[in-house]
Amino acid sequence: MTVPRGRRAPRHSLLATFSLVVLLLLLARFGLLQCGPRYGRPSAEMPHPTTAGSGANSPAPSATASSPVLRGSEASILGSVHVALGTPHDADPSDEYFLDQRAFVLSYSPEKRVPNWVAWQLDRTHFGNVGRKDDFRSDLALPARFYRVKESDYLHSGYDRGHMCPSADRQDSLADNSQTFLFTNIQPQLRELNAGPWEHLEAYARKLAQRGQLLYVVAGGIFSAPFPTIGNGVAVPAANFKIIVVLNQGQGAADVDESTQVLAALMPNQRGVGEREWTQYLTSVDAIEQASGYDFLNAVSERVQRVIEPRVAAVMAR
Ligand code: MN
Ligand code: MN
Repeated sequence: MTVPRGRRAPRHSLLATFSLVVLLLLLARFGLLQCGPRYGRPSAEMPHPTTAGSGANSPAPSATASSPVLRGSEASILGSVHVALGTPHDADPSDEYFLDQRAFVLSYSPEKRVPNWVAWQLDRTHFGNVGRKDDFRSDLALPARFYRVKESDYLHSGYDRGHMCPSADRQDSLADNSQTFLFTNIQPQLRELNAGPWEHLEAYARKLAQRGQLLYVVAGGIFSAPFPTIGNGVAVPAANFKIIVVLNQGQGAADVDESTQVLAALMPNQRGVGEREWTQYLTSVDAIEQASGYDFLNAVSERVQRVIEPRVAAVMAR
């Protein structure tokens, strides 16, 4: 009989259409939830104004359906606004697992079990009423084959859980503030460093951002082999570095010139570090490049790097 078949067919296609609509609604809802945090995944469809507008940068490659980007690869953070002045590079790419945390980006060392460096953009839009979430926790974004640092690694170690991207730099959203408490953003710091010159430099940077300036910051550790460890093999840095490029709103790599203010600081993670003002740890980007092995600000023209990187900023404390 052909009649029942003829009746059944439209019923089936109606059901299929209904299922498709439900599926699309679910996908849309999921998609909306993912758009919740301030930072989306870098994509060609939504270039950030500061990277899109800068003539010196070619448009960053991005993930598309046809070219999936490998998790942990450098391509996975390309196009992030936080590395608009360049992704730091050194001679050993084997200890770099890149993570786009949206609130900031970082390179993680599976061997040292700390970030090599963390990079973030800071301006007054990052301030708000969100308090410290204080939810220190393992970073499940790391592949299971890596050790995931946890609270007990720092317990009774004699070291603070020192933020690279500070909690106070991400107070506009609970999700972004919480990201700063992932252990992939943390290095063991002596309290006198963490609560001393390191924190005073953080506060100075926030003051510049509050005044309306746009900052590009990168911070990390200097490790001298064989590096000491705490807990389950978490490397203790011999020193911490921070580079801050001070720009105006809407500016990017192409706007960095000979007159751009750059603060570079190198602070020993050693006893006595707290006895000096943070300004006494100011140094040049070149000195940090030499100590860390990384090339920073590499999206800035070589000509400008050669002028701004040997310079030591003069800043009055307080
Ligand atoms: Mn701190
Ligand atoms: Mn450089």
